[in-house]
Amino acid sequence: MTLSILYRGVLSGCNYDCPYCPFAKRKDTRATLATDAQQVARFVQFVKQQTNIEFKLFFTPWGEALIRRYYQQALVELSHCSNVQKIAIQTNLSCATGWLQKALKEKIALWCTYHPGQVSREAFLNKCSELDAMGVTYSVGIVGFKETIPEIETMRTLLPKERYLWVNALKKQADYYDNNERERLIAVDPYVPYNMVHHESEGKACRTGHTVISVDGEGNIYRCHFIKEKLGNIYQHDLNTILKPRACTNATCGCHIGYVHMDHLNLYEVYNGRELERVVAATRH
Ligand code: SF4
Ligand code: SF4
Repeated sequence: MTLSILYRGVLSGCNYDCPYCPFAKRKDTRATLATDAQQVARFVQFVKQQTNIEFKLFFTPWGEALIRRYYQQALVELSHCSNVQKIAIQTNLSCATGWLQKALKEKIALWCTYHPGQVSREAFLNKCSELDAMGVTYSVGIVGFKETIPEIETMRTLLPKERYLWVNALKKQADYYDNNERERLIAVDPYVPYNMVHHESEGKACRTGHTVISVDGEGNIYRCHFIKEKLGNIYQHDLNTILKPRACTNATCGCHIGYVHMDHLNLYEVYNGRELERVVAATRH
């Protein structure tokens, strides 16, 4: 069996101060970090022991995890597990990158978000170059505020052509973008229209709860990050008794980490095995 797990522990602190983020400059207590480290270590052990499962793993922390050594070590350790196909993580890419040398780099994938205002363009691009030099796969993304569009376009011209640059669209306000802004964003990210809508999802097939699950630090299983009905616990229950095809029970789904798993959108064809880290092959963008 192949299973994708989106892991989100208790860590929520971040070294950045993005005005749009509830976790900006939040500092985790030492006790929270100790709990998080212990829970991540337990999760790593669990993965190692499930030799009958092929894992695709994705850390989706609330805050910034890669500035913590225990996340770096977890990624390195998991990359060397024969039953782990891939280990991805969302990051602001502010961490040093030397630790990646110890990982089996072809299994690591980084979802890197560039936050203009928090880091200089040059510093971010330098980090990207370090990843390129090491042969680590990554995508780059930017939050698509109207006023950020020129910076998004500039970043597109400066990143290597083969590097997919995605945009997270603002969609709280209907018609936030005018036609021109929409077209400019599509010119950068041809798949941004998928991110500009809340997909109607209720009753529709979604792979979460079957081949994709969300797990918290205590091991509690949810089908996805957006539906808080507990399905069981990875440390207590047999996954075979839990995993099955299910229709979505939410009205809509508006985040890539959710809607990418809906059957009818056929986005697995676009991402071709890299749907977790949001990487699109150069020939498609
Ligand atoms: S880098 Fe991410 S987690 Fe940190 S403040 Fe910005 S949006 Fe929030
Ligand atoms: S469509 Fe979105 S909200 Fe619904 S089950 Fe899938 S990931 Fe969860």
